[in-house]
Amino acid sequence: MSGVHASFPVTHNTNSQLLSVDWDNLPFGKIFADHMFVMEYANGAWQQGEILPFGPIDMHPAMSAIHYGQSIFEGMKAYRNKDNEVVLFRPELNARRFAESAARMCMPEIPEELFLQAVKQLVATDANWVTNKPGYALYIRPFMFATDEFVGIKPSDNYKFVIINSPVGAYYAEPVRVKIEEHYTRAAEGGVGRAKAAGNYGASLYPAKLAQQQGFHQLVWTDAKTHTFIEESGTMNIVFVMDNKIITPTEDADTILRGTTKKTVLELARHWGIPVEERKVTVAEIIEAAKSGKLQEAFGAGTAATIAPIALIGYRDEKIMLPALETREISLRIKAHLDGVKSGEIADTMHWVQKVC
Ligand SMILES: *Cc1c(COP(=O)(O)O)cnc(C)c1O
Repeated sequence: MSGVHASFPVTHNTNSQLLSVDWDNLPFGKIFADHMFVMEYANGAWQQGEILPFGPIDMHPAMSAIHYGQSIFEGMKAYRNKDNEVVLFRPELNARRFAESAARMCMPEIPEELFLQAVKQLVATDANWVTNKPGYALYIRPFMFATDEFVGIKPSDNYKFVIINSPVGAYYAEPVRVKIEEHYTRAAEGGVGRAKAAGNYGASLYPAKLAQQQGFHQLVWTDAKTHTFIEESGTMNIVFVMDNKIITPTEDADTILRGTTKKTVLELARHWGIPVEERKVTVAEIIEAAKSGKLQEAFGAGTAATIAPIALIGYRDEKIMLPALETREISLRIKAHLDGVKSGEIADTMHWVQKVC
């Protein structure tokens, strides 16, 4: 799939901020590109979407999203490859997940083609914000929220779908120190953990802050009922390497966000003939393996960092160091391959990349 049909009307930003961007000191998520996409849902249907200059959105004080949390989002990136094309990585998976998040939160789904069309045309409009500096990308944030002006609890009748773009720099992922969380819970079975629902992230801030006060970057979430099974790490999926096998928590339960990065890691590993086990992973086995030196690698997988190596695991009063980064053959190989496919240095034989312009 490639190319964009100019199906949404565009009001161009005549006051571009592009030249004022300090590319060498780019804070994550604080600088925004010149345009945004906006589309309203009303009278039971999505209305005509449009691309507008980036700017504030009007808000009624009774807007239902603020009161009752019908609010979902996605996170994706556009890259500029070596042939100077702007590309997206498996955006169809974001489109599908957005629809699934919407369904869970009792919000209207956006047809996947419409979602992709909006993302592509907006990115094409802001294409000069996608630099080819190594490690840089345009972070794309589609989100939808309830806009009924009504303080009463029911599914909203009106919604707004918006997409904004933010240029982001090389994610110099310092290897992360994680703490296994045995008290607080990110997601419970039957809850909304599988959806990228705004409230999930609000609820995680307090336990994450406590861990940061103890010197950790992130939590490793465990199951809500017993706290004995590993689920995710912060806002990334978690992957381990033991006995030269890739081991990762199964996503059968609805408590784990189904990440594109982890899915890609597993597909690549299987393609290369590396054994993959998707199953329940216990805290006990990981701690035991980490202590005995059997745990070769551990990393978080997500769009922001792609692969975030875990340097240390905190468990109760212990801190267990994992093997040196240079020894992590599998994660280094995966990271290099994914970077290569995005930059066009490595052929996209699995058809992961979609050209925008
Ligand atoms: C977004 C997210 C991920 C990673 O998903 P990707 O599609 O790989 O970016 C993992 N876990 C949580 C909780 C997330 O919100």
